[in-house]
Amino acid sequence: MARRKKIYEGKAKILYEGPEPGTIVQYFKDDATAFNAQKKDVIEGKGVLNNRLSEFFMTGLNNIGVPTHFIKRLNMREQLVRAVEIVPLEIIVRNFAAGSMSKRLGIEEGTPLPRPIVEYCYKDDKLGDPLVTEEHIAAFGWASQQDMDDIVALALRVNDYLAGLMYGVGIKLIDFKIEIGRVYEGDYQRLIVADEISPDSCRLWDIETGQKLDKDVFRQDLGNLADAYTEVARRLGVMPKNATHAPKPKLIN
Ligand code: C5P
Repeated sequence: MARRKKIYEGKAKILYEGPEPGTIVQYFKDDATAFNAQKKDVIEGKGVLNNRLSEFFMTGLNNIGVPTHFIKRLNMREQLVRAVEIVPLEIIVRNFAAGSMSKRLGIEEGTPLPRPIVEYCYKDDKLGDPLVTEEHIAAFGWASQQDMDDIVALALRVNDYLAGLMYGVGIKLIDFKIEIGRVYEGDYQRLIVADEISPDSCRLWDIETGQKLDKDVFRQDLGNLADAYTEVARRLGVMPKNATHAPKPKLIN
């Protein structure tokens, strides 16, 4: 059988050509990076956990009518997704101050925000994904005004869904990042949620203790990242209750 074609390798995932036109296989690596890849490590089992968690969130979104790229999970580390043209923006939704917003505006981490705040960063690793405004987005043609209306609507629906889901298992959704893709259907384009939704791209705090259960555990050296992600998966019923670490899978490539 011919070796499949690698389309792109990012910090945490590899994309391969899918079995049908318009599909892609998304492979989740164990690599963890932070601060624009200045801090790096390999966290055994992270890719397996993120594959399962992203499947869980994307399936839930598809089921409530929020369109995503997710088609099906293929194995421990891979999922089949729709090929999209990625909008070159990271869409961040914040419910509580944390991270770069706390730093930029001097607001203490964990302070509730008066309403969800949506921010945009231009996707460019060399520039460190700088914060941009709708003026930049329109002027440089990264997305139209109609696109931005649709993107904000999608982002807020994802926020409501994820925040409710997390609240139900004792977790506060502090913030998260999503990426949006364009798909073309005849003469029309549609915007759908793409990339991944996982504890790599969310901030998740235990409601009772404030314990961090997301990538900040790695960024701030707070403990074992795979244990934190396993706890999120366990509470959501994504992994068996007695699972400790996800076993190292044999299915690679
Ligand atoms: O660092 P910052 O506070 O701006 O991050 C906001 C949210 O977006 C966090 O949940 C973080 O994990 C996520 N994020 C991401 N990828 C980036 C930047 C931020 O997933 N490149």
